[in-house]
Amino acid sequence: MAITDKIYVKNHRQLSSQLETNIPKGAFKGATLDVLFQGNGLEKLDEATRERVLDFASDFLDCNCDTNPYCGCPERKFIRYLLELRAQGLGPDAIVDVMSDDYMLYAYSGDVLSFLDSGIRTLEAAEGLARVDGHGEKRDEIRQVKDDLAR
Ligand SMILES: [Zn+2]
Repeated sequence: MAITDKIYVKNHRQLSSQLETNIPKGAFKGATLDVLFQGNGLEKLDEATRERVLDFASDFLDCNCDTNPYCGCPERKFIRYLLELRAQGLGPDAIVDVMSDDYMLYAYSGDVLSFLDSGIRTLEAAEGLARVDGHGEKRDEIRQVKDDLAR
C-alpha cells in the first residue's frame, strides 16, 4: 500500500456531519477527493476547517489533467511534500504534526517512517545503477537527495 493510502482526514466524522455527507477517512479516497475537488458544501464548514480543506485542494488538486483528481498528481504531490518536510530535517512525528497543522490530516508515524526508509532504499538502488552506468553527476545528485532524507 502506498503511503497516500495511509493518510487520513482528522476529525473526519465531524467534517462529514458539517458537510452533511459521508466522506471516507482516507484523504486520498475517491469520494474524499470528489468532495474536495467539487467543493460542494464547503461553505458549511467552520472557517478554520474550510481554510485547510481549500489549502489542500489548491496545493494538491490543482493540475489540469482531464482525469483530475484521479490522475495520480495529488498523490505524487503529496509524496513530494512529505519528502520536502523530511529534507528540512523533520522526523516522522514532526511530519505528522505539520500535516495536521497544514491540512488537518494525520498518519501513523510508523507508516511515515517505513515510507521514508523505503524511499532511501529506492534511492540507494538508483545510486548504484547510476554508478554502474557511469553517470557520475546523476549519482552525486541522487546521493545528495538520499543524504537529505537519511539525515
Ligand atoms: Zn493531474
